Amino acid sequence: MGGLGGEGRLMRMLESQEYDCPYCGEPGEVVLDLSGGDQDYYEDCAVCCRPILFVLRTDGENWGLEVRREDD
Ligand SMILES: [Zn+2]
Repeated sequence: MGGLGGEGRLMRMLESQEYDCPYCGEPGEVVLDLSGGDQDYYEDCAVCCRPILFVLRTDGENWGLEVRREDD
């Protein structure tokens, strides 16, 4: 134990973000792990099953998410 942490605070930084599917427009929600830095990844839409590209940009504190179509 020891170290700099106090109060057993988790270092994982999870944020949930709502988005609209760029194909069918249905709302969805993703969980972003800000501790992983910048990430690009695909996740299939739960409604139309098409691959949505999530582009996460973060410095671990501030973050922004872009949701794109595969063919954009
Ligand atoms: Zn969709």
